[in-house]
Amino acid sequence: MTPISLEFFPPKTDEQRATLEAALPKLKALKPEYVSCTFGAGGSTLSYTPETVRHLRSEHGLDAAPHLSCVGGTRAEIGKLIETYKAMGCRRIVALRGDLPSGMASYGEFHYASDLVEYIRREHDGFFHIEVAAYPEMHPQAADAHNDLANFKRKVDAGANGAITQYFYNPDAYFRFVEDARKAGIAVPITPGIMPITQYSQLKRFSDMCGAEIPRWIAKRLEAFRDDADSIRQFGADVVAQLCEKLVAGGVPGIHFYTLNRAKATLAICERIGLA
Ligand code: FAD
Repeated sequence: MTPISLEFFPPKTDEQRATLEAALPKLKALKPEYVSCTFGAGGSTLSYTPETVRHLRSEHGLDAAPHLSCVGGTRAEIGKLIETYKAMGCRRIVALRGDLPSGMASYGEFHYASDLVEYIRREHDGFFHIEVAAYPEMHPQAADAHNDLANFKRKVDAGANGAITQYFYNPDAYFRFVEDARKAGIAVPITPGIMPITQYSQLKRFSDMCGAEIPRWIAKRLEAFRDDADSIRQFGADVVAQLCEKLVAGGVPGIHFYTLNRAKATLAICERIGLA
């Protein structure tokens, strides 16, 4: 069976904590290989991410891995966070650059995710399994697709063990990307990141920011549903389940779900493809 991993964001309010708590028992039934928790670049979730990782590990018995975005941070701050995670028993880190929050002028001591990977390897040798981000439809700031692939290779050469992709809805983009990566000598597993579709306006906003394409035929149908949330969820689950089926048939090493701390949409997809 294809391994599953689940991504959460760290709740900051009691209401958000309750939402995640309600989702966890249902999502745990999927028996994820591990779960991960995002980190706000520039330190906006500095205490929330460790708090959530600790909670997921100690209260829910999940192998929870922190995301660590290095932009805007100092070596000392990042070093301290890594020690905190080590003390919790974490053996996996998702290492990222992150995006400089508006109003923050300086990149700090790390400019790229490859600098962070290099740092973790230098300071902690082989202790951590390091995942990095990859972009089948290209990172929006990259000069071009070839450059972006070369920069992905820098992260792997610096010591990354695997990659999780930005979400996409066109399986060809993923398969072609993996083929190009193999030709470039990148041998690590490249796990597709999957974003369930539950709402159009939010998805469009995310996609505009991160450069993930919503194919026209999907966008047009979602637009036509207007406020009909049930139809959007039903259509979204069908479309994303078909995408996952193609990916599983193509031999992906795993599937990483961006759950947005909710169970329903991820479960609907897993049920449709027999992963629940
Ligand atoms: P990098 O790999 O450093 O790449 C950033 C850009 O710089 C790319 O355009 C790349 O081509 C270019 N580049 C890289 N190296 C060089 C070089 N040496 N010279 C010139 N150009 C170079 N963001 C968060 O803030 N918190 C999170 O928890 C988080 N989790 C994520 C999880 C996943 C699976 C993914 C796919 C993304 C996540 N993001 C997160 C978003 C991510 O931080 C942004 O996409 C960010 O803009 C780039 O991060 P990166 O690690 O890919 O950066």
